Amino acid sequence: MKNLTNLNKFTLRFTNKKLEKEYEKYYCDRFLSQIKLAIFFSAVFYGIFSFLDNLLYPSFSKYLISIRIIVVAAFLFSLIILKKKFVNINTISMFLIFLASFGIIEIIRYLHIRQYENNIYFAGLMLVTIFSYAFYRINFSLAVITAIIIVFGFNLVSYSYTSFNDLIAKNFFLISDNLVGLIISYLLNLNDRKYFLLYKKIQNEKMDLYKDKRKLEKLAHIDSLTGLINKRFFAENLKFQWKEHLKKDFLSVLMIDIDFFKNYNDYYGHLSGDKCLKLIANAIKTQIRLPHDIAARFGGEEFLVLLPKTKKEEALKIAERIRKKIESLKIPHLTSKIADVVTVSIGVASMMPKNEDFERIVLNADTALYNAKKSGRNKVVYF
Ligand code: GH3
Ligand code: MG
Ligand code: MG
Repeated sequence: MKNLTNLNKFTLRFTNKKLEKEYEKYYCDRFLSQIKLAIFFSAVFYGIFSFLDNLLYPSFSKYLISIRIIVVAAFLFSLIILKKKFVNINTISMFLIFLASFGIIEIIRYLHIRQYENNIYFAGLMLVTIFSYAFYRINFSLAVITAIIIVFGFNLVSYSYTSFNDLIAKNFFLISDNLVGLIISYLLNLNDRKYFLLYKKIQNEKMDLYKDKRKLEKLAHIDSLTGLINKRFFAENLKFQWKEHLKKDFLSVLMIDIDFFKNYNDYYGHLSGDKCLKLIANAIKTQIRLPHDIAARFGGEEFLVLLPKTKKEEALKIAERIRKKIESLKIPHLTSKIADVVTVSIGVASMMPKNEDFERIVLNADTALYNAKKSGRNKVVYF
């Protein structure tokens, strides 16, 4: 994974600030419920151990239980505020780990200065730290800070009353315990971050696929030679406009066909024929109101124009404009039987959309075109 080079292997943070921010958000979304569960179980565990306080040190149980109540209350309170957007999960987790650890460190101190055995609580401290690293999923760098503060805090509180040997022995365990915890934290964090990158990669690929799909869809609608939309997409557009203007406005359709184009192709060649089609498509585009009106290549050398909100008179004017424009291009056509330049015949149909039969208007325009051809070509004929 190339993106992994963005990850600092020591701090386990992304060197790219934006990526780190994104990860934080992803982390919140993914782990909030797991961390809440961890907090809930911490509270339950921490509370249940007051049973042990009572069993081992009934005479001090009041003080010990008051410490537990404070810690458990803080845990439960954090469960409530974790729903709020402004709190940072890592900060809350770190605070709770400190509170739980220092609660136990205080119990150890309290028992010790009263000359009571406290190793069982020392074991409790180790349990708390390991549990935290495994289930709170705090950032590795914060876990390191947490470990350092717990070890230093423990020593700071204990050194005044603990013998040197005892302190060394306890540090031996506490430091090992924290190191194991940090290894767990490192591995979990590394995996989380790798997973995040993978997730991001999949999201990006999904986005690319979506974009490609849109591009392909667009291409599927467009005639590659002329850049006009194709027959299929024209039908979709017509259907849509038909419904839009149902019983409201007139629609008009022009069907345009080049005169003696077979002769043109035979005489000038297919490539010149294609060039001519492009010129004519462009000429049509210049005479209509884009994007309001829709021009399409209907197939071969036929074009269709859809004119929404347009009545017969206006449609005839536009058709005549197109016919004249194409004639004025003066594309030589020596094998045309009616002129020495390329001309077109145009069939026009107008309708007020009344029923579902939207294809009727195209058939009518086609009939009008047929009449235009029959009556001499290079002209506009209304259905
Ligand atoms: P009319 O005036 O009656 O329309 O005569 P016409 O020769 O134009 O009519 P016809 O429909 O018989 O001929 C259409 C010709 O258009 C056939 C073909 O050579 C040409 N044609 C169709 N599609 C293309 C194309 O994509 N490129 C080129 N260069 N020619 C095409
Ligand atoms: Mg034709
Ligand atoms: Mg033709």
